[in-house]
Amino acid sequence: VALHNAKIHGEEQYSFFSRELSEIAQLRQNLINELKKSELFQHFHIVYQPQLSISTRKVVGVEVLLRWIHPELDFIPPDQFIPVAEDIGLMPDITRWVITNAKKELSDSELIPSWVDRVSINISAKELNIEEQVKNLHDIFQEYHSFAKICQLEITETTAIYDISTSQKFIKSLKKLGLRFSIDDFGTGFTSLSNLKNLPVDELKVDRSFIDKIETEHNSQIIVKSIVDLAKNFGINSVAEGVENENQLNFLKQCGCKEAQGYYFAKPMGVDDLEKYLKGKLG
Ligand code: C2E
Ligand code: MG
Ligand code: MG
Ligand code: MG
Repeated sequence: VALHNAKIHGEEQYSFFSRELSEIAQLRQNLINELKKSELFQHFHIVYQPQLSISTRKVVGVEVLLRWIHPELDFIPPDQFIPVAEDIGLMPDITRWVITNAKKELSDSELIPSWVDRVSINISAKELNIEEQVKNLHDIFQEYHSFAKICQLEITETTAIYDISTSQKFIKSLKKLGLRFSIDDFGTGFTSLSNLKNLPVDELKVDRSFIDKIETEHNSQIIVKSIVDLAKNFGINSVAEGVENENQLNFLKQCGCKEAQGYYFAKPMGVDDLEKYLKGKLG
């Protein structure tokens, strides 16, 4: 019956889909226009989300997350605009802005060096394949040499690390400045075990989608446990993202996962709230 209906309505469905597609293309074009405006960076903000040790429950680091609060369009999630920014070659500028401003806010508030020991910054895997961008990163962190020693770059796989030997070379060169590396959303991207063997990374971040389903899906439990074991066997850190409740935390503890990040502990917050959070919590 469904097939029959589909045939009858074939033409309408086609126009329905093509209308949807052109709407998507239109939205994308609007986003591109907005991203190209000179005032873009004035509407960028940074928020920080604490990462805690599961065994001590102490804050061990923060993740830097970008927010774009557009004056008319309101909040545009990074998941939506980062891939577009990537396509139009804007990521080098955005990453530079994020690093510079996180460093400035954390220094001005004197949260570094005393209160924050590790700062995780997201970069897309694609950036590690671009020699020019790696050179940029090298220059920034050479200038910020003491910040570099507490920074960790979270490689987000919006695209495959297609050139593993180039990435490997770049990661090694940045590690010489004291930077650490993490693979973000691990388990959903393209990093195969053989790639992992060749990448000198310091941490695996278990993707939120698995943590979400820990309580209801046995398979998600197996995946989480396997990723944590993999990190353990490689002798590197494991972090679970998107932890929202005690049950999830208990499961992670049983698995031997080292660190957790999520609404259960704290939502991403501006630097002023971060200061209050850290000082209230630790002081
Ligand atoms: P991500 O790096 O995996 O960051 C984790 C995302 O999960 C963040 O979303 C965070 O707000 C959200 N999150 C944390 N805890 C919870 C929780 O308990 N429950 C739920 N439902 N969500 C939680 P956000 O900030 O929207 O960022 C989405 C993605 O955008 C990031 O995923 C990252 O891939 C990308 N992104 C954000 N900022 C930057 C940036 O400065 N540069 C780059 N290249 N990518 C960025
Ligand atoms: Mg991340
Ligand atoms: Mg992630
Ligand atoms: Mg993500």
